[in-house]
Amino acid sequence: MLLEMKDVSVSYGKVSAVRNLSLNVPEGGIVTIIGGNGAGKTSTLRAMSGMVPLVGGEILFRGERIDGLTSDKIVAKGIAHVPEGRRIFPDMTVEENLRTGAFLRRDNDAVENDLESVFTRFPRLKERRRQMAKTMSGGEQQMLAIGRALMSAPKLLLMDEPSMGLAPVIVEEIAVIIEEINAQGLSVVLVEQNAELALELADHAYVLETGNLALEGPADELHGNEHVRAAYLGI
Ligand code: ATP
Repeated sequence: MLLEMKDVSVSYGKVSAVRNLSLNVPEGGIVTIIGGNGAGKTSTLRAMSGMVPLVGGEILFRGERIDGLTSDKIVAKGIAHVPEGRRIFPDMTVEENLRTGAFLRRDNDAVENDLESVFTRFPRLKERRRQMAKTMSGGEQQMLAIGRALMSAPKLLLMDEPSMGLAPVIVEEIAVIIEEINAQGLSVVLVEQNAELALELADHAYVLETGNLALEGPADELHGNEHVRAAYLGI
């Protein structure tokens, strides 16, 4: 396993957000976490990237404990987080935003190569490299957020609601990008309210309900599950 979460719990003061969650991400896989508002999906991702402390359990990345490490150290180990709402730097240019993704790296030649690869993958970012990020459309900003995460040369990409607020045609584009990135060997954890999209992209899925694991299984099996269809697919 690339990443293993064992019995992980996350709380904000007295509010329990995730309870005793165990979850595995295989090397090269796409794992999705679906669930309604407040189910604990974002908190689970934030636990993986060291943005919230655990109140219980442990997280292993390539067999090594990472819970308790700072976010910087976790990025350096190869986990990049594309946050909910993109969180790009609005008053920096596209290129400056991308370079912030590489702030921990000292392999300057490889960084320049990776910048060119991001520009090849996202030609619109290249065209707009000197433009302020805030002037970009929602879809372009999502691509920028993904590109910035790729600039840390990750092994595992954590994506929080990449489809949020985007037109269906752009969502399709993002879906293709996720598939391409994965085909090149990057593992992905995808958090989505758009369960249809998530189950289409993922190999394996976890369903969270108010902080508890309700179901897990191969994505195509969950797609056929009565409860999932009624609760998340509107069928
Ligand atoms: P959404 O899709 O609405 O973001 P989610 O499944 O990602 O939902 P979380 O954001 O992880 O769920 O929230 C899980 C629980 O933790 C909710 O009850 C939420 O209100 C609470 N929570 C999340 N962040 C905080 C915070 N910073 N302080 C206090 N409570 C929080």
